[in-house]
Amino acid sequence: PPRLRLRGITKHYGATIANDGIDLAVLPGEIHALLGENGAGKSTLVKIIYGVAAPDAGEILWQGRAVAISDPNAARALGIGMVFQHFSLFETLTVAENIALGLGTRQDMAALAARLRDVAARYGLAVDPGRHVHHLSVGERQRVEILRCLLQDPSLLIMDEPTSVLTPQETEGLFAMLRRLAGEGCSILYISHKLEEIQALCHRATVLRAGRVVAECDPRTATPAA
Ligand code: ADP
Ligand code: ADP
Repeated sequence: PPRLRLRGITKHYGATIANDGIDLAVLPGEIHALLGENGAGKSTLVKIIYGVAAPDAGEILWQGRAVAISDPNAARALGIGMVFQHFSLFETLTVAENIALGLGTRQDMAALAARLRDVAARYGLAVDPGRHVHHLSVGERQRVEILRCLLQDPSLLIMDEPTSVLTPQETEGLFAMLRRLAGEGCSILYISHKLEEIQALCHRATVLRAGRVVAECDPRTATPAA
């Protein structure tokens, strides 16, 4: 079965329909783009998948089983990780301290720093665990956020407009990392409105407009997906 399947996801904010019966399937190892203009309903859908918002109707299936994702802890427990567009790092703490806090449980800092170096090397996400966040560039901060997710071994990683804060060179590094992760079987839900990026990176694209799916295609050939 798909790793994640959404059926009829609907969400109203007062009179506004943010999501209007959305169906979506993300396969294992697939880099799946969620594309659409401002107001199309992308953020709302992602909030529902990550347990930040509750749908009014519809069903979420994880590995073929219906699940309720009532909060981000429930999402993380399933194996869903999210890299937000705006980071929430503590400026005066080190990279390792920030990650330890993000993991929630008590950590052996030496073991965590070692694991962090391992994962960072494996995915080409160079960061020094001992550096204070206030010294880091935006691209480095994003790497910390990504590492925080990867340390929890997600099987679905959600990224919201990740390249908006990156240089072209950092973007290339991010894409190499995402391709590697997908090659290992992790699914990626990639929110963006940059068509060239989606064509370079993604296996499938779902296009939203006014809360509905208006197209699904293979962005590399722009042909409708099977
Ligand atoms: P190309 O079109 O560049 O020849 P492929 O379409 O074979 O390359 O895909 C490149 C990589 O992406 C391969 O490792 C393939 O397994 C993977 N891939 C392609 N489409 C999907 C998909 N829908 N889900 C998961 N992995 C995919
Ligand atoms: P996108 O991420 O594609 O820009 P959103 O999911 O943010 O789209 O928004 C979809 C629609 O829902 C828009 O009309 C937006 O104004 C509305 N909306 C989103 N969040 C809220 C909210 N918290 N309260 C009221 N309306 C909202």
